[in-house]
Amino acid sequence: MNKNIELYDLAVIGAGPAGMMAAITATSHGLNTILIERNSSPGRKLLLTGNGRCNITNNASLNEFIEKFGRRGSFLRTAFTKFSNKDLIEFFESRGLEFKEKENGRVFPVTDDSKSVLKILETSMKKLGVKTVYNTRLTKIQKIEKKNIFIIKLDYNTVLKAKKVVLATGGLSYQETGSSGDGFRIAEELQHGITPLNPGIVPLKTKESWIKSLQGIRLDEVKITIKNPKMILDGASLLFTHFGVSGPLILDNSSKIIPLLEYGNVDMILDLKPSSTREELQEMMVAAFESHGKVDLKNYMKLLITNRMIPIILKLTNIDGKKKMNQINKNERNSIINLIKSFPITIRGYLSLDKAVITCGGISRDYINPNTMESKVVNGLYFAGEIIQGCASSGGYNLQQAFSTGYLAGLLSKLD
Ligand SMILES: Cc1cc2nc3c(=O)[nH]c(=O)nc-3n(C[C@H](O)[C@H](O)[C@H](O)COP(=O)(O)OP(=O)(O)OC[C@H]3O[C@@H](n4cnc5c(N)ncnc54)[C@H](O)[C@@H]3O)c2cc1C
Repeated sequence: MNKNIELYDLAVIGAGPAGMMAAITATSHGLNTILIERNSSPGRKLLLTGNGRCNITNNASLNEFIEKFGRRGSFLRTAFTKFSNKDLIEFFESRGLEFKEKENGRVFPVTDDSKSVLKILETSMKKLGVKTVYNTRLTKIQKIEKKNIFIIKLDYNTVLKAKKVVLATGGLSYQETGSSGDGFRIAEELQHGITPLNPGIVPLKTKESWIKSLQGIRLDEVKITIKNPKMILDGASLLFTHFGVSGPLILDNSSKIIPLLEYGNVDMILDLKPSSTREELQEMMVAAFESHGKVDLKNYMKLLITNRMIPIILKLTNIDGKKKMNQINKNERNSIINLIKSFPITIRGYLSLDKAVITCGGISRDYINPNTMESKVVNGLYFAGEIIQGCASSGGYNLQQAFSTGYLAGLLSKLD
């Protein structure tokens, strides 16, 4: 081995929010840290967040944060405790950036500009003396157990040595930002398990071809029921697209639905009028026999549901919309009400990972110590950010995960 290769206390790979926070934390604890990034600049994905406005975190409680990360969200308890949403805000506020809270506890910088978040991270790294190396891609990590050091192989045959490594190379979505899954391959070579790299926060495809005719319709008041396993989804809007369904309700629940597709298509029942019961709709339509007797069915239905849903309901029930309300018989009434309250769609797939906001799979949590983010297989190797298994819905939770795990990895990679 070339004895002249520089030895660092810590090499952080990936200058996303997780890697930058790990480098800042470690350096402020006195570690000689190098940060390697394949792009020519840091935080490409960070700049895209929140449509460029950066929904950096959420005002939710610790328990809500944990719940957002699903069944085994408690893996992140230490990370969210050691560096909470309050700590994250304090980190930036103490460096001159103020924040505002928007709907559902979402927190944004007052600048409405993710560049202002990135700027503070870059300035902090500079002030602390983090050595940053851009346009350089990690290709392999080798641990020399006897010497307790890592040999870090980079492209163009460059090599460096470090006592500890934080791998923060992100997930697999939006690959043009640099996160093309290198970290998964490298961790796998080092004997770590990787869970299925399912996408999260992604639109879903439906089987029904007529869905195209609904493209652009947004349902603000809708309730979705999935029978097996029983799931009720509501509280946000759904958007029909030319291939299926999207909108906050779908995007935020996609990570719950996608695993069900392993067992076949997923039947969804949409309640298009959750504020009225079947009985109430019955009563209204019966009363309309008299009160709106001479009104066309298709016009009367505007009182019940979104205008643009009417043609598809009439088509699926095979009822002529020009019929007058006093010509509608009981069977016709029932089939209309049935579709309004139980509108079926079949989910058959989802858009590709590259169109997803987040990668839900990653380095299996079974291989990582939740108190330190250190690998249980390779001492001195740490993970941070999206590379770790698990994801949350939108709302600022995923960026907080990146910052919190980055902080924890950077903090506990203090030299023993
Ligand atoms: C469009 C979009 C909008 C989003 N909006 C929000 C939001 O508003 N709020 C929120 O909480 N979350 C949001 N997210 C999710 C959030 O961006 C991620 O959770 C976060 O960026 C993950 O941070 P990370 O540091 O783990 O990974 P990344 O940000 O992906 O950073 C990883 C870095 O590693 C580098 N890298 C990869 N491989 C190598 C290699 N071999 N060598 C060297 N460098 C390498 C990459 O170039 C990249 O810079 C959004 C995501 C997208 C795609």
